[in-house]
Amino acid sequence: MEKKDIKSLYLEELEEELGQLGEKSFRAKQIYQWVHQKLAADFEDMSNLSKALREKLRQQYTLTALNPVEVKISKIDGTRKYLFRLSDGNVIESVWMQYHHGNSVCISSQVGCRMGCRFCASTLLGLERDLTAAEMLGQVYAIQKESGERVSNVVIMGTGEPLDNYDAAVRFIRMISDDKGLNISQRNITVSTCGIVPKILKLAEEGLSITLALSLHAPDDETRKTLMPIANSYSLSEVLPACKEYYKKTGRRLTFEYSLVQGVNDNLDEAKRLTALLKDMQGHVNLIPVNPIKERDFKQSNRDAIDAFRGYLEKHGINVTIRREMGRDIGGACGQLRKSYLSEEESS
Ligand code: SAH
Repeated sequence: MEKKDIKSLYLEELEEELGQLGEKSFRAKQIYQWVHQKLAADFEDMSNLSKALREKLRQQYTLTALNPVEVKISKIDGTRKYLFRLSDGNVIESVWMQYHHGNSVCISSQVGCRMGCRFCASTLLGLERDLTAAEMLGQVYAIQKESGERVSNVVIMGTGEPLDNYDAAVRFIRMISDDKGLNISQRNITVSTCGIVPKILKLAEEGLSITLALSLHAPDDETRKTLMPIANSYSLSEVLPACKEYYKKTGRRLTFEYSLVQGVNDNLDEAKRLTALLKDMQGHVNLIPVNPIKERDFKQSNRDAIDAFRGYLEKHGINVTIRREMGRDIGGACGQLRKSYLSEEESS
């Protein structure tokens, strides 16, 4: 039988499991604290447990601990990109960014992605597999340990579609915000989705107070379909009401991500239609100048077009920010570090 990963278990589950091993429930609390607060990488570190119990745990469970195979640190803004190797040999990437309001980590939710967004490097090789909750937690824990600084914000915006790995993503959110763990406020957690409608509606029912970010990228279905295959499954007339429902249920304002691609979605007519589309939505628009990937022909909008687009939205009452490009000197957009690492491996 395959061993369970102890890091993926809720405290109540761990208590139940230890009960079956004939251990008292306070032992579960101690172990949970070792794993999720003291960020222990090995059962051996759990010094207040007997040797016999540590041995029993080793026989019954695995304990995922991610070790970076590569860390790149930006000389411009201190952003760090981490490449982690998983126990099955797959590699994933995560990013640490420093803002005035705290330290933010962007994690991956899958190895690769099957959503197929045209401008995105993470999806070029398709989906390899889902990440476990432990592997998502492991990214944050390893980064907090390595950087020596508290992580205050988490965005699930790295490689993968979190709502395509729904159960593990929700488990991760509950555990990372647990006051018996790192206790990161749910208000400081963002899930970004390409727009899987039934899962957005399900997420609205979880009783979480996290921010939902929708990757919108176009003001109409036709344009959206040219950028995002998911738009063939769910039209804007379904996605936007689902977001509204999310706001209604959670009271959390929405974020709409809009990557500006030259000549595709960046003219003033599109700004105008976007304004009309979002008029009654409680949220703000985050404009992302597209990060060109070499496999595709998309170009970043020029500065004037970006400013004009932003100006139009602002003037018409839409809250808008332009995403600051972080770590420009350490290798491009989402998924590009992993992608370049894999091609290097292939050619060596
Ligand atoms: N699957 C999720 C989260 C991953 S991507 C989603 O689709 O939202 C996080 C954000 O970065 C998304 O809005 C995505 O569309 C955007 N993105 C991906 N590659 C990009 C690129 N090369 N340039 C600009 N934005 C990109």
